[in-house]
Amino acid sequence: MQQNGKIGVTTENIFPIIKKFLYSDHEIFLRELVSNAVDATQKLKTYASLGEFKGELGNLSVKIKIDKENGTITISDNGIGMTNEEIDKYINQIAFSSANEFLDKYKKDANSIIGHFGLGFYSSFMVSQKVEIITKSFKEGTEAVKWSCDGSPEYTIEVIEKAERGTDIILYIDDENKNFLEQGEIDKLLKKYCRFLPVPIVFGKKTEWKDGKSIETGEDNIINDTNPLWTRKPADLKDEDYKKFYQELYPFSDEPMFWIHLNVDYPFKLTGVLYFPQIKSNVDMNRNKIQLYSNQVFVTDSVEGIVPEFLTLMHGVLDSPDIPLNVSRSYLQSDQNVKKISNHITKKVADRLEEIFKNDRSRFEEKWDNLKIFIEYGMLTDDKFYERAQKICLLKNTDGKAFTFEEYKTLISSNQTDKDDNLIYLYANNKDEQYSYINTAKDKGYDVILFDGQLDVHMAGMLEQKFGKSKFVRVDADTIDNLVRKEDSKEVNLTDKQKEELNEAFTSQLPKIEKTEFTIDYKALDARAQPVQITQNEFMRRMKEMSAMQTGMGFYGEMP
Ligand code: ADP
Ligand code: MG
Repeated sequence: MQQNGKIGVTTENIFPIIKKFLYSDHEIFLRELVSNAVDATQKLKTYASLGEFKGELGNLSVKIKIDKENGTITISDNGIGMTNEEIDKYINQIAFSSANEFLDKYKKDANSIIGHFGLGFYSSFMVSQKVEIITKSFKEGTEAVKWSCDGSPEYTIEVIEKAERGTDIILYIDDENKNFLEQGEIDKLLKKYCRFLPVPIVFGKKTEWKDGKSIETGEDNIINDTNPLWTRKPADLKDEDYKKFYQELYPFSDEPMFWIHLNVDYPFKLTGVLYFPQIKSNVDMNRNKIQLYSNQVFVTDSVEGIVPEFLTLMHGVLDSPDIPLNVSRSYLQSDQNVKKISNHITKKVADRLEEIFKNDRSRFEEKWDNLKIFIEYGMLTDDKFYERAQKICLLKNTDGKAFTFEEYKTLISSNQTDKDDNLIYLYANNKDEQYSYINTAKDKGYDVILFDGQLDVHMAGMLEQKFGKSKFVRVDADTIDNLVRKEDSKEVNLTDKQKEELNEAFTSQLPKIEKTEFTIDYKALDARAQPVQITQNEFMRRMKEMSAMQTGMGFYGEMP
């Protein structure tokens, strides 16, 4: 028995419009159909766990086959399938019930829609002259049906024989899209969109090289990793796993420096792993490396509008079904969930950096040159991030020693002021060119920051405003002469507590030397050329020099 019907649309023929407006994204038909097939198998698992399906689950999988001779691609699954009524409800009615609305939306904004999500099953008509659905529901006693539609709003539906539960979607590829009948093309698309889907995706058989020829083995060629790293528990993962996954995502890349495993359930769902790449120059400022997924289906590798701009320098994977995908990017930025997700990620990134700084400052300093662009970029463009990062952002001086803002302020506050009592931050952009000025300044007991990074000039401008009563001045003859030394004003009177803190600080800076083995001349703190003087006996001095050579420790102050 065959039944004919007309799909409920007001537009006479929707298919030419679908084809025309979504031309650039034809390839997404495969993503849509494979994810429907995956959904169908996942639903069956859910029914089984609820006791609503008592049969054998078997090996749940999705299979893709190309038949070049007949010009078809078939996507098969052994999921829940559909009954006659369900086809009517889900395919004939629902998908087209809002055809006008759909067209309005897509016509207007076709280029700004992320991956045209939500197009679903009907995206198959972007590449097909005819589509057939052959399906049998898992529900007992239902008949298998075949639905067929040639791209006009008319369809036929008939009862047929099908032994196994599940669905085959058969696409009769049209003349303009014959490229999709190439093995290599489908393989490429499956690897792009389906690489981390949670159900095995089978595409042909595995091949083997034998005697210089590629021959098929009997084994299914599964193209995906059903259990990708970000879906696993951090406690079960080792550093090696994270590094390996990074190489999988970005083959032949430098090792990442650190990573963050994201896992939020409420008030939004978000999982993923973000990596800090090594960024040495703007050549390395590779954006659009973060891949966005929705329930393990690849959506896009452009996360603009979803994470703050500076975070687009990170690499890795974000997976969230709570990011709306069928809206324009400008709308995306105003979406409440997206805002929350973006804030959460920024916070996690700051947390992680702070953690490394606190737990292992020397490692943090070691990586600073690679982290610097990232952190400065964030501080310059994101106030919230500035607030967090100002505790860990480092200033490096021309001797290569690194200070936090707070530490640096303490270092220079006693003698780098101008006549209006502004703190003067001296900096050089080029150590070689400004060599003589740097030396003059150092001879006079001043410290000079090295600002030779791409964003350092902008940082100087911003910090001047944020710090208040501070000036960032390029080191030259004039600026050095204009500095007012505190000797002209007043003596430094340290409280006992401050002395104790100083002692503490120096003890920790001088390994292998006991506090009792040197003294700090607090009065000398007031002297410009020698802001700090440490005295110790000749034997201890030699010991110290030796240990400094061994450890490569910087040392502030002068030997008697
Ligand atoms: P969505 O997946 O967003 O619901 P689609 O247009 O992709 O929209 O699919 C419409 C509906 O058709 C699905 O919700 C599902 O009920 C049904 N469907 C599509 N493909 C399959 C399949 N392979 N197996 C079972 N049901 C399917
Ligand atoms: Mg779908």
